[in-house]
Parts: sequence; C-alpha cells; structure tokens
Amino acid sequence: MAQVRALESRPAPSASASPLSLSTPPPTPTFLASWKARTEARVRHFCALNRAGNALCAWHDSRRERRAYPPRMAPPGVLNCGCTHAEALFEESLARARVGSYLPGESVRMDPALRNPLLKLLERRYGYRDGDFERDPRTGGWIEGEGPAMWEQLQRGSGRR
Ligand SMILES: [Zn+2]
Repeated sequence: MAQVRALESRPAPSASASPLSLSTPPPTPTFLASWKARTEARVRHFCALNRAGNALCAWHDSRRERRAYPPRMAPPGVLNCGCTHAEALFEESLARARVGSYLPGESVRMDPALRNPLLKLLERRYGYRDGDFERDPRTGGWIEGEGPAMWEQLQRGSGRR
C-alpha cells in the first residue's frame, strides 16, 4: 500500500493540457496494445484475490458488509463485493486524480453509490476507459511515467498471487 500512497502524492497532470478530448488523435495499434497491457496489469494488481479468496475494491475492503459473492465465486470481471474490475480501477484512478482518497482513514473516499454511476456516465458520454485520465489529451499518448511499465513492475513486486 506504500506504493499506492507514493503514486497518490505525485503531481497532478499539467493544467495547461487541453481538455478537448474530442481533438485527441486516435490511438495507434501499438498504443492500443500498451493500453491493454496497462489495464491488464492494473487488474492483476487491484483485483487480485486476497488470502481469504476475496477480491474487493478498496471501499468494500475497508467495510464489514456482507459480500455479494462467496470466496472465489465471483463471476469473471466482477469482485466479491459486487463491484466490477472497471469500477475498482476507476476508484483508484479517481484517487490518483485527487478525486477522493483510496485508502481507509484518508479524508473523503468515493462511495460506490457515486463512483459506479459516475463511471457509467463517463463511459456512455465519453467512451471512458481505464487509462484515459493518464493520457495526454493533445497527443493521445501516456503522460510521462503513466504507461504500462510501472504497473507491470508493481505486479512483479507485489507477490499477491
Ligand atoms: Zn466494491
């Protein structure tokens, strides 16, 4: 978790970047492959089973509510808490963009009751996918240091599986 904390404290993306995502150039096949690798590495990192056989988003991991699915019984792409992989990654992306916090005990956290409909809205209106917040809207490429390498390294170092 120290790694996540370090990520959260990095400077916010440059405010001078254009917000006009509609002008972002379409991704190349090479970039799409790096995007896929990045998302897959993040899923392995943030959606991994814990020792009890549960995969949970950060919000539900900090609560004692009844889980939607018994250990190891969640359907593909879904966590034991009932949140999807996309929702769990979105939770972390929001926190990295300074919209709420990811870790228990830290100021405001993004309740799934807000987080999940917000994700649906962004997906429907803007075609949001995990990683979009970490792309430079002018070039469509990764903001420096935000490509797949960091996540693939985290995965190797975390040993959660
Ligand atoms: Zn959850």
